[in-house]
Formats: sequence, C-alpha cells, structure tokens
Amino acid sequence: MSGASEITDDWTEKSEPQWRERLTPEQFRITRKKGTERAFSGEYWDSKTPGVYLCVCCGLPLFESEAKFDSGTGWPSFYEPSGERNVATVQERTFFLGCRTEVLCARCDAHLGHVFSDGPQPTGMRYCINSVALELEEKASDAKE
Ligand SMILES: [Zn+2]
Repeated sequence: MSGASEITDDWTEKSEPQWRERLTPEQFRITRKKGTERAFSGEYWDSKTPGVYLCVCCGLPLFESEAKFDSGTGWPSFYEPSGERNVATVQERTFFLGCRTEVLCARCDAHLGHVFSDGPQPTGMRYCINSVALELEEKASDAKE
C-alpha cells in the first residue's frame, strides 16, 4: 500500500475508469457495483486481529475490531460502525428480499454490505459487511500473543 493514503475530497467524483485502476476487479465489483462476495470466502469473516477496518476505496475508518462478532454468516459482522458519520445507510427495496438497508462508506459511496436489526447488544444491530470492501489496519500493541 503506497501512495494510497492521501486524502482528498473528490472521492465521490471519481470516474469508473479511475476506480478500475485503483481497485482489484473483485474490489471494483463489490464496492462500485454493489456485489456480494461468497460467504466464508473473504479475508476477514473469521479474523480476530485487533485493529480498525478501513474503507478499501478511500481509507476512511469504518468499523473497529472491538465491535466485531461471530455471526456465523461467513461475512465480517459488526454491531456498530466506527463513527456514526463514517457509514451511510440507504433503504433498498428488492422484489425478492423485501426491504433491506444498504451500508455505504459515507465519504466515497463504496457499497459495503447491509445492516440488519438482529444483532447482539448493546446495539442490536448487525452490520454484515464484505471483506473485500475492508482493509484491516492492525493495532500496534506491545503485548504479543
Ligand atoms: Zn470509502
């Protein structure tokens, strides 16, 4: 990861070719085309590494490992976002699945996954997120396991 951390305000104005250049084909398919990775296929569904999960597109902190729980779905699941303003939600109506709430990166509009209201306490929410949309920034700690 080099040169990917410069922060600018033009994230939502990036064109499709710019995103294609920046992302892997799978990252592009999921985050820019609202795709879904196969369950149990992603890098992070089973990860317990402490750290912060960043948007793979723009590097915004989205979720923290403290809020991650084992949902058994095969996707990384969190009961709350890292910051309320970092994650946007949109009601989505689909013919087959009824109403779902889509979860997006608040800065670059990357599709992250969906949020459901059957999660654990303290929030009761379950953010079901594609690993491909995330990049884990590991927490530096002195305590080695
Ligand atoms: Zn983003």
